[in-house]
Amino acid sequence: MINNMLNKFIENNSLEGNIFGKNNSERKSKELKKEIKNIKIKTDRSNLKCPFCGSQHVYIHSYKNILLKNRVFDDKIQFLNIKFKRFSCSECHKNFSENIENRYKKTKITNNLAFDIFKDFSKTLLIKDVENKYDIHFNLAKDIISTFCDLKNEKDREILIKNGINTICVDEKCVGKYNFFTIFRDYETRKSIYYTKGKNSETIKKFKESCDENITKNFKNMCIDKSKAFLHGFLHYFPYVNITFDKFHVMQNLNENYFKKCYNREKNRILTSINEIKEVIKKNKNVENNKILDENLDEILHDLLKEYQLLTENRENFKRKNSNLNTDSLNKLDRICDSCEELKEFRIFKDNFMELLETKDLKNVKNNMFELFENIKFSKVRELKRFYKNNVKYIDFFCNIAIYKVSNAAMESLNRNIKMMYNRGREYKDKDFFFKIVSCFT
Ligand SMILES: [Zn+2]
Repeated sequence: MINNMLNKFIENNSLEGNIFGKNNSERKSKELKKEIKNIKIKTDRSNLKCPFCGSQHVYIHSYKNILLKNRVFDDKIQFLNIKFKRFSCSECHKNFSENIENRYKKTKITNNLAFDIFKDFSKTLLIKDVENKYDIHFNLAKDIISTFCDLKNEKDREILIKNGINTICVDEKCVGKYNFFTIFRDYETRKSIYYTKGKNSETIKKFKESCDENITKNFKNMCIDKSKAFLHGFLHYFPYVNITFDKFHVMQNLNENYFKKCYNREKNRILTSINEIKEVIKKNKNVENNKILDENLDEILHDLLKEYQLLTENRENFKRKNSNLNTDSLNKLDRICDSCEELKEFRIFKDNFMELLETKDLKNVKNNMFELFENIKFSKVRELKRFYKNNVKYIDFFCNIAIYKVSNAAMESLNRNIKMMYNRGREYKDKDFFFKIVSCFT
């Protein structure tokens, strides 16, 4: 029953949870007019069986009433007063009730209302909004949302499975301080397939176990960040799948763990020189000295300060591809590199590397990548040498970026949204529930 309604709901509505939605705490339904509709349940007695022993020898024991909240309108609240029978079994002497089809589990609301609550929840993703509007208990609201999310996630999964999954994107997310979880998505639709706590190779195993073999055998590509745990997990559990590193993570890694050190060394070199010169100038002030020397020192200091400024102002431009920079920025980078061989070499490598990750020359991409790596094997720049040592074994996964052109980019923007959701309400302190919402609405 709930399933049918949900299907109808999904067909007629786009289920985009709007985490930027405004809080719409409306007045409580207590203030609303009450409308009561009387309904009698009619059960086909010819098929009636005792749910305990299966006997057909049952008789009416008593008549009962139950009041279920059914709809909440702008100006009124509708209840269904449902009259139902209690039966007694003449064989096992147990009592049972007539089935109330429209009742949501064993609560005092109908499936219709549960469905409305879920629909409203999807507008802001805040339980307190529906809690107020429908005047229901927090735990009931949470249960409804949880149930519908499960159904929707299951339905999304079924559709994905029917259409086939080609490329899986894997990403780890962190909410709060140490709450890592891993989310698996279909690259085409960006729909979640699976999520689990943790971020190690064990998560890949759990993922495999959760999937039917008919689905996993169609997997062609996996896009992962450069995490060793994921890599080992995939090589072990999905040896037939092409692994592509996520370009964003690759570049971030190159910039943060390698380039930054080279850059900072140059920055410190200039800073040290500046301080030395300043020191000398200070000493000279106390001594009888010649003016020409002082002027020279001032000039050197002036140049160094300018050099320092040029370097720090262009830091971000080092991260871009040359082809994305304007002439002015290119000239500035050239000037910096003219005075620093290491930065020059790094910049050349980085630009070639970035170009290769997007190259259309797929026939030669592997050879070119290999050649590029060979160039830095014995580089004087220690960060480049280290990059070679740590990454030469991943050349295939880098080349796949150009070949398969898949990335996790679409998922990255979710990180911010997920953090925002997590910080919004007490409902999200329950991790399982939180993952469920993330999986359903992102
Ligand atoms: Zn019985």
